[in-house]
Amino acid sequence: MKAIPGDKALSLFTSVTLTLIMALPLLFFVVLRFEGMQMTGGAIAAGWFLFLFFMILKTGDISRWRRVFFVSVALFFFPAFIARLFETRGHMELTAADVIASETPFCHIVIPSALIPMALTKNIIFSGRLTGHYAAIYSMMLIWLTASLTLGRGWCSWVCFYGGWDDGFSRLAAKTRLPLNPSNKTLRLFPFAMLGFVVLGSLVTMTSIYCDWFCSFKLITEYEAVTSSRSFTAFILMILLFFGLLIVLPLLTRRRFQCGVFCPFGAFQSLVGKVTAPYAVRLDKEKCIGCQKCVAACPTLSITRESLADGTGPLATCTLCGECLKACPKGALDYRFKNRKKTVCDPATGNLSGWKKILLGEILHPRTLFIFTAFLFGAIVSGGFASGTLGRLLNLFIKGSFTLGGH
Ligand code: SF4
Ligand code: SF4
Repeated sequence: MKAIPGDKALSLFTSVTLTLIMALPLLFFVVLRFEGMQMTGGAIAAGWFLFLFFMILKTGDISRWRRVFFVSVALFFFPAFIARLFETRGHMELTAADVIASETPFCHIVIPSALIPMALTKNIIFSGRLTGHYAAIYSMMLIWLTASLTLGRGWCSWVCFYGGWDDGFSRLAAKTRLPLNPSNKTLRLFPFAMLGFVVLGSLVTMTSIYCDWFCSFKLITEYEAVTSSRSFTAFILMILLFFGLLIVLPLLTRRRFQCGVFCPFGAFQSLVGKVTAPYAVRLDKEKCIGCQKCVAACPTLSITRESLADGTGPLATCTLCGECLKACPKGALDYRFKNRKKTVCDPATGNLSGWKKILLGEILHPRTLFIFTAFLFGAIVSGGFASGTLGRLLNLFIKGSFTLGGH
């Protein structure tokens, strides 16, 4: 029995079974570890996540339902994060007193410019807390390390709580107004140049220069208090980067501009994932007819005319988002265990039926295993802020206060 090209839908039995299995960790990580209104918010978030997970499996439309999940994660993140800043330190701006008190949340984008200087100088160039804080350095490092071993650059389409911004805006416009050529090496290599620049810059200045000058997410997280012409310049730059990289350029190009063309962490994760990640999206050259629909569909410029022609398919910058799987009319692209083009448990490689089809062709297929792992990881990482935002919204409607506890 041949698989239908491009058809990634699983049977109702498999979809329901895997959704029920997914419900167990979500019950713990998104619901039961919280109390009061946040627990109720967590229950709503878990229900929403389970619905999205079921839709990914049952419809096989990974591209659409993953994006809905990813955008929701980004939207859940910033209200909870900003509310937490107000609850813990009373304001959103980062002041000199906050830096001295190490009240600076640490995020994954700073990891490369913290790790390499740390290895060379034994200093962490960041004023955040090592442990115990809600965005502490060690907990973020641990999340990143685990994600690298399981998802590699899949982080950038399934876990990152920022990525939903350019992912969402890149799909809002019906037509491309500013075409980007994926074969343009300057565009594709720019994030790697940024990576080198921020790592070296941090090392030389012993300051986190990406965080201080180039972060596009400051407007929705925290920004330096404006107290001088230097901080005023950084403030203006922050606004330009937010609107430019996350909204305007994704709308015009229909590509994920921040993640595909700018982010140094994305470049770093491409290098790390090349070594650590067990999964990749692979091209089956025998099925490919060279139509280049995948080249046009890839939001991060990770498939080029050249990589198709030489049979490489998706490059190391691939975020395993699944857009090209949907675009390909021949089913020539799919998730694989790395370094294996075909898999013995792929229904397209043999005659599978009955329980063997369910077990080997569906549940143990690398596509299903990757989606399960990536979705679970994304849902767990976003559990705290999804429950936090929804719990606060409930509090707002019921008690008139966005603060958890309702005072
Ligand atoms: S190659 Fe495919 S899976 Fe990888 S980022 Fe591009 S569209 Fe997504
Ligand atoms: S969309 Fe599919 S068939 Fe067309 S070039 Fe890409 S891999 Fe080949």
